[in-house]
Amino acid sequence: MSEAGPIRRIVIVGGGTAGWMTAAALSRFVGTGRRIVLVESEAIGTVGVGEGTIPPVNEFNRQLGIDEAEFVRETKASYKLGIEFVDWATENHRYFHQFGDIGQPIDGVPLYQLWLKYRQDKAVGPLSTYSISAAAARQNRFSHPGSEAPLSGIGYAYHFDANLYGQYLRRYAEARGAERVEGKIVSIDRDGESGDVTAVRLEGERVVKGDLFVDCSGFRSLLLGETLGVPFEDWSHWLPCDRAIAVPCARIEPLTPFTRSTARPAGWQWRIPLQHRTGNGHVYSSAHMSEDEAETLLLANLDGEQLAATNKLRFKAGRRSRSWEGNVVAIGLAAGFLEPLESTSIHLIQRGIQKLIGLFPSRGINPVERAEYNRLLTESYDPIRDFIILHYKATRRTGPFWDHVRNMPIPDSLQHKFDLFGEHGRIFRYNDELFDVPSWAAVMIGQEMFPKASEPVLASYSDARALGALEELRTRYEKAAGSLPTHADFLAKLVAQA
Ligand code: FAD
Repeated sequence: MSEAGPIRRIVIVGGGTAGWMTAAALSRFVGTGRRIVLVESEAIGTVGVGEGTIPPVNEFNRQLGIDEAEFVRETKASYKLGIEFVDWATENHRYFHQFGDIGQPIDGVPLYQLWLKYRQDKAVGPLSTYSISAAAARQNRFSHPGSEAPLSGIGYAYHFDANLYGQYLRRYAEARGAERVEGKIVSIDRDGESGDVTAVRLEGERVVKGDLFVDCSGFRSLLLGETLGVPFEDWSHWLPCDRAIAVPCARIEPLTPFTRSTARPAGWQWRIPLQHRTGNGHVYSSAHMSEDEAETLLLANLDGEQLAATNKLRFKAGRRSRSWEGNVVAIGLAAGFLEPLESTSIHLIQRGIQKLIGLFPSRGINPVERAEYNRLLTESYDPIRDFIILHYKATRRTGPFWDHVRNMPIPDSLQHKFDLFGEHGRIFRYNDELFDVPSWAAVMIGQEMFPKASEPVLASYSDARALGALEELRTRYEKAAGSLPTHADFLAKLVAQA
């Protein structure tokens, strides 16, 4: 491609969740006057897992104009109000990372600070008692946010079958002109001068030319990693889990509107309820547990009948040092991977797409815009990495794996958050980081991190007033959550409308 040429042909390499999310969004927002071609190989297939999402997925679907009832029906989705963490801080302990806020700030001070000050009073419940999403989750109830507090504070996302989501978006993209080419890419053509990718060559001597290439080829990172040689920053010294075994089992009753993550001796296990089945997976460190042991442990801890053979996956935590190089933008696993503890991969796909659209080139590729894209993506990945490390670092669990993660050095950026919180429980959100103060508070406190002193601003509060406010909130949230339909009833009604 000549440096100043118009972007007329966009080639997306890969038809997993990343490829079809990209095709759907590009066909919706930048498709006019451009050809969008997606190349995928059924013989290679997709990674085939990924069921948990976080609230920004709603924004993505809304921007695409997707009808929620249809989407929920087509992807067999259920609702998600947060994640219950079992045995993470220590054995026989649980906490909830809610979507949405924890209570409401009092005189500008976040409610969790009040909770920290009075947490030892016997009238004060667990922190999750003061979150409307957590209160609804506890009662297996769900509804969209109401117009008035506290129900207006409900935060939600979905559990869905990522393969079905990909196929749903394929229909969406194809209806808007995106073309699909089936076949295995065997070589890549590059411009002799600029080094830009000019075409991908498929088996059977077929050639697909393009001006801009989006690499959604999965862990292999065919264009960005293999062809352009953009290095992979390995984070496995902070996140040593490198294997997963996934398996579906029969649907559970009642249908819980949350993910459960249970700590295991060398990692953790997920439980994700969908409409028709429950997804389960064991994420573990192969340096600390054998595959046979990991599989046995997973199968011994299913809530229902096993419905299919296990699916074994290998991965490494980290990201490419740049997501956009030359005329190749990598999105999804081709750009990086963080284990699914906080369900952030599909969100990082969404971020990659939104930033690409926000910086979409008109004539040629502008190096300033490309550099900005890379800066924004680095700023997206790194704080999520820190947030995930937090779960491993702040624990009292023991055993070879947990001793290792509890004692490992952590990134300076995370150490700063720990140090700051350790003084007066203060948390700030930096730049455009994904997880906001209530999420950090829920997990830091959930993992039993406590500050040395309480927030000084609260000194002007009388104990009676503070405890009264907490009690009033707790009662109000419990009652409001109890007024909602059950999760199963809400879903059944919604799907019937589709
Ligand atoms: P893939 O699904 O691997 O797709 C790659 C595509 O490239 C395929 O279509 C393949 O055919 C094509 N391809 C590759 N090479 C070639 C070639 N030579 N020629 C032609 N085509 C080619 N994310 C979440 O958000 N929530 C979760 O709960 C979650 N859980 C996960 C659990 C595990 C254990 C793992 C490993 C991941 C999880 N993820 C989760 C991540 C999620 O699965 C991925 O982010 C998502 O599926 C996107 O994958 P992808 O499209 O980038 O890659």
